[in-house]
Amino acid sequence: MSAKGSLGIFVEWPIATPLRLRENAEGGTPPPPDPDWVADFQSTHGRDPNQQDWQDHLLSLRYPGTGPNGEWLDRDWQVYYRLVDLLGGDLLGQIGKRGGHGTGLYSGIGVFLALWKLEPGPDGTRIAYVRNFPAGGIPPNTTGWTWGNTILILESERNNRPLLMHEYTHVLQYRLTGIRYVPNYLKGGLYNWDNNPYEMQGVEVQQIYEWNPWLPPIWEIVWAGGRSG
Ligand SMILES: [Zn+2]
Repeated sequence: MSAKGSLGIFVEWPIATPLRLRENAEGGTPPPPDPDWVADFQSTHGRDPNQQDWQDHLLSLRYPGTGPNGEWLDRDWQVYYRLVDLLGGDLLGQIGKRGGHGTGLYSGIGVFLALWKLEPGPDGTRIAYVRNFPAGGIPPNTTGWTWGNTILILESERNNRPLLMHEYTHVLQYRLTGIRYVPNYLKGGLYNWDNNPYEMQGVEVQQIYEWNPWLPPIWEIVWAGGRSG
């Protein structure tokens, strides 16, 4: 869920960026890395790159950073690693999955709230652009509501990419937690964006994207077990 008023900039971005082929996301034999890149990485970091470093490098080639020619500057990598560490391996490992039966149950509630007006979203999600209660499916004074793999977003926030990343963070939380998600969430407090752990994570992700709109979408991160060193 997202609070109205915490929204900063609006970024034009394709909502349904197609998923690219994930190579060796579960480990296995790394692809033959570029020897020049390996040497450069070793001299910069003082260690050998692992599979995660290689996947992160490939990501940086697909999505330009803030450098003059689109290269990722040191501060870009710092921001990216902040996002990765904030989400952690537990959530990033859920990318490309769909969650179990608990997630499916919650997805169904979302479909009902969306009155079946759903569009295909990224990474197996479905998105409905709706209005607030009582005319639509989202509680008053909120801009987004996620149920399992179903994301409800206020019509006026259709191009709000940081908000989508906030709600997608909830999708990953559902997939990880399953049926226990809603009871756990309620323990943290409804409408409690400052103290509910699920919301604190969502709000922080949203802020990172508001300040760094160049960042690749979360679902493009290939989790290969984390970087070393
Ligand atoms: Zn939220």
